[in-house]
Amino acid sequence: MSVVGFDFGNESCIVAVARQRGIDVVLNDESKRETPAIVCFGEKQRFIGTAGAASSMMNPKNSISQIKRLIGRHFSDPELQRDIKSLPFNVTEGPDGYPLIHARYLGEMRTFTPTQVLGMVFSNLKSIAEQNLKAAVVDCCIGIPVYFTELQRRAVLDAATIAGLHPLRLIHETTATALAYGIYKTDLPENDQLNVAFVDIGHASMQVCIAGFKKGQLKILAHSFDRSLGGRDFDEVLFHHFSAKFKEEYKIDVSQNARACLRLRAACEKLKKVLSANPEAPLNIECLMDEKDVRGFIKREEFEQISAPILQHVKAPLEKALADAGLAVGDVHMVEVVGSASRIPSILKILTDFFGKEPRRTMNASECVGRGCALQCAILSPTFKVREFQVIFATCYYLLLGPLLHFIFSIVDAACPTVIFCVLLLFLYSKHSLPLNLYKWKVNESFPFPISLSWKGSVPDAQNGGAEQEQLVFPKGNPIPSVKAVTFHKTSTFSVDVQYSDVSDLQAPAKISTYTIGPFPTLRSEKPKLKVKVRLNLHGIVSVDSATLMEEEEVEVPVSKEPAKEDAKMETDEKPNDTSAPGANETDVNMQDAKGAAEAAGVENGVPQSGDKPVQMETDTKVEAPKKKVKKTNVPVAELVYGAMLSGDLQKAVEKEFEMALQDRVMEETKDKKNAVEAYVYDMRNKLCDKYHDFVTSSDKEELMAKLQETEDWLYEDGEDETKGVYIAKLEELKKQGDPIEERYKEYSERGTIVDQLAYCI
Ligand code: ATP
Ligand code: MG
Repeated sequence: MSVVGFDFGNESCIVAVARQRGIDVVLNDESKRETPAIVCFGEKQRFIGTAGAASSMMNPKNSISQIKRLIGRHFSDPELQRDIKSLPFNVTEGPDGYPLIHARYLGEMRTFTPTQVLGMVFSNLKSIAEQNLKAAVVDCCIGIPVYFTELQRRAVLDAATIAGLHPLRLIHETTATALAYGIYKTDLPENDQLNVAFVDIGHASMQVCIAGFKKGQLKILAHSFDRSLGGRDFDEVLFHHFSAKFKEEYKIDVSQNARACLRLRAACEKLKKVLSANPEAPLNIECLMDEKDVRGFIKREEFEQISAPILQHVKAPLEKALADAGLAVGDVHMVEVVGSASRIPSILKILTDFFGKEPRRTMNASECVGRGCALQCAILSPTFKVREFQVIFATCYYLLLGPLLHFIFSIVDAACPTVIFCVLLLFLYSKHSLPLNLYKWKVNESFPFPISLSWKGSVPDAQNGGAEQEQLVFPKGNPIPSVKAVTFHKTSTFSVDVQYSDVSDLQAPAKISTYTIGPFPTLRSEKPKLKVKVRLNLHGIVSVDSATLMEEEEVEVPVSKEPAKEDAKMETDEKPNDTSAPGANETDVNMQDAKGAAEAAGVENGVPQSGDKPVQMETDTKVEAPKKKVKKTNVPVAELVYGAMLSGDLQKAVEKEFEMALQDRVMEETKDKKNAVEAYVYDMRNKLCDKYHDFVTSSDKEELMAKLQETEDWLYEDGEDETKGVYIAKLEELKKQGDPIEERYKEYSERGTIVDQLAYCI
């Protein structure tokens, strides 16, 4: 079983795997640590990741990037509208109001949802991990921005399903960074709290997280973000600066040419990176447009001047995070910057001025999220624990083996190497392995949005027939995961909406989902209670889990002095946390007493619960009297999540991905077979003139040479684009003539070797 973490960025992705010796960032096909988040649709196959990036310049309109900006968003979302203006591919509104990506694939125009495209990116990342681990990868942890809405989180899970992955957790990127930071820190205080601010500035967004560390514990104190402040905004500033300049100087309008736009943007990004390390930088592009070469130049001061409108937004998330954490600047002991765009010097200056201390770069800015995801996966993975114990066992074994060997060797007076070996082994193990208390780490995550339930109350309202009721269920900063119960006094089918209580931080509609609860069974009591369980799971997804009708019945019970235990209290057998993840139970669940809030919202009673203990409901029965017993009946709950993929569509998407992956594989194999024919032609031709020269008659050689030439011509003409089977047949045909020659040569060589050996023996 795999223990893998994926960081999928707007621009690039990281795959990290947890091994006993530590976390490794694995290399892709091109031996690179970062894999571009891009899918390029071709005439015969898809090119994903590094292959996609290589093809994107030649085929910009069918190269899909920036998927992270598109998933789980409504087409009318103003941010999405702004984003798609700078995308080289076509995005339109689908019938459901969500974006559809258009690309030419297998010779025809097709549409794909952003979730499908993200599924393709995940498939590529999965295969990178599998090639490295030489095993199937299913369980994983995926990093997501903290500002992802319910719909975006669900879209990521759907994309993972399309790729055949099973995320144990969607973890906030900054939390993953904090985890990767804290787990290796050996000097964390036992009692005092070390407050660290993590600032991540990536390609398209900025995220801030303030975390409190104690030994073996990470508590997220606050999250804040700016969804639209990242490296690409600086690229855009440079792009507009130079496109205006070139319009004036060279009379070319790059906005009219998709390829020119792409090339200028890429050049601006390079220029920005150069400016991070140099006070000035040139920009030269050959044949940008209308066969004109362009030249430009910019100083860092001018770049900072033109970027001032972006830079002035950097402070707001920092202030918000501090305010939400209830800390003053002086309470933050350290500042860590991550995300590659944080390399821009003017951003660092703002951070230094704000916190009054130099930000550190202890972490690897581009890999820390991936590493944190892999660590979280190791914490959650039951198999990893088992392996962990195996390592402890192995260490103990070596510890015992050491003295034993010492004893044996001391007899022969050679103890020294053994002792050195054991010490070295322990040293290497302690340096490179994951901390042994890894799975004991408590990660107390906090949810960034307040969530409430709303429903139509029974009190009549002039227009609605029932006044709208609302109750806050998970306030902002609520621990993840968490379960709460709300008690309703309803007797017939009704609907409950799950919604954001405050949408000021969000670009999303308030309403998330609607749950229809009912039909009810025949009621036995007049005032039954309906206990509705609402869950905020490890991924940060809210759902109504169950509805239980609690009816009190009077039952005759024989008189006894000691009350039977189960009559005195009833326990639910449900665990409060998401038990799919072992780490979940360790998270503190902060349950509010729903009673007050429920009454205020028109509900008669709320059921107080503890997140860590089973719910207990006490009956008011006295010993030696007729008793009241609570009968529990499950009431059906139907879910409708607005904008989410239906299970049927998801299944179809899984099948489609399978088909496309098969097509890619067939094309790759076809290319391999074609290359094999080509390689055979060149190889055999060389050998016929060289080492096979004495093993072939001149007529056979002539015939085979002619055949090889004919095949070479065919490969560049009629045979350029053939099927796998045709190339296999072609190779076999050539081999039929070539193999006997090869055999003769081999036989002779082997005979020669035997003669040599005999001569040597004699
Ligand atoms: P996101 O976090 O927004 O999802 P991401 O994780 O792909 O995206 P990163 O890889 O952290 O983003 O950062 C990519 C951004 O950093 C790009 O805009 C890139 O141009 C910018 N960048 C990379 N190196 C430098 C540098 N040396 N100086 C300035 N910017 C840089
Ligand atoms: Mg990132």
